[in-house]
Amino acid sequence: MQFTDSHCHLDFTEFQHELPQLLKQCQQSNINRLIVPSVNPEHWQRVLSLALQTEQTNNTNVKVSCCLGIHPWFLILQNNQLTNKLVKNIDLAFNEQLLKQAVIKHRNEIVAIGECGIDVFKAKKNTESEQALNNNLNLQQEFVEMQLQIAKHHDLPIVIHHCQSHHLILPLLKKVKLTRSGVIHAFSGSYQQAKAYVDLGFKLGIGGTITYARSKKTINAIQRLPLSSLLLETDAPAMPPFGQQGLINTPLNLIAVFKALTTIRSESAAVIAKQIESNVNQLFFNR
Ligand SMILES: [Zn+2]
Repeated sequence: MQFTDSHCHLDFTEFQHELPQLLKQCQQSNINRLIVPSVNPEHWQRVLSLALQTEQTNNTNVKVSCCLGIHPWFLILQNNQLTNKLVKNIDLAFNEQLLKQAVIKHRNEIVAIGECGIDVFKAKKNTESEQALNNNLNLQQEFVEMQLQIAKHHDLPIVIHHCQSHHLILPLLKKVKLTRSGVIHAFSGSYQQAKAYVDLGFKLGIGGTITYARSKKTINAIQRLPLSSLLLETDAPAMPPFGQQGLINTPLNLIAVFKALTTIRSESAAVIAKQIESNVNQLFFNR
């Protein structure tokens, strides 16, 4: 069986010093592909060089691919206060130009746009008034739509972050119909919510959430969905699986997520692994 971690932040400092070792361990665990989304323009060069370097110079057969995008957390400011330094960074037109240029330049080196998305939980925590919250959610939606349009223009899939925001994300996906759809990363939610994405051709990223017995609603949804709609991911270094709370998550924990999935689904482990690899091929590699 071969595996792909469809969402891990290898560019984060947590992995800086142990990357060659980690890639070797991934190979030993048959995790042969890693997809690294980016969180803001400052990370773009880092994820690009990671994808290039590892192809040419690592001594493993692990292939690292990357995505360019802007994560909603970078649009959520403490108490909605804009500092001079940050004004430029959250300007929609400025960021749109930046992303457009980067995608044109690196079209052949990236496999998706992302991660982008809407995080209502974080926005609520960091805004003091209803007005500030609404302003921020509007900004988040504008950034998602901008990134969806770029994905559409370049025939790329999209990687979506969600948190208490299915009701805001779904209308945007219906409005900007992508040719290559995308993935709802770290999906959690009900069967109905999952089904709405699957009906739009989207895949759902299945991560550490399903290793927690309390995630009954999500587990139930994943049980009932077509296998052709699922991807595996760790979101490392965040979201460690059950038993590793408080520790740094790594792509190696993909196997724990896979094992949890095999206990939820009725198909054999071999069938699940094979179908999920084919889902990755279809979504990110267009084959
Ligand atoms: Zn992520």
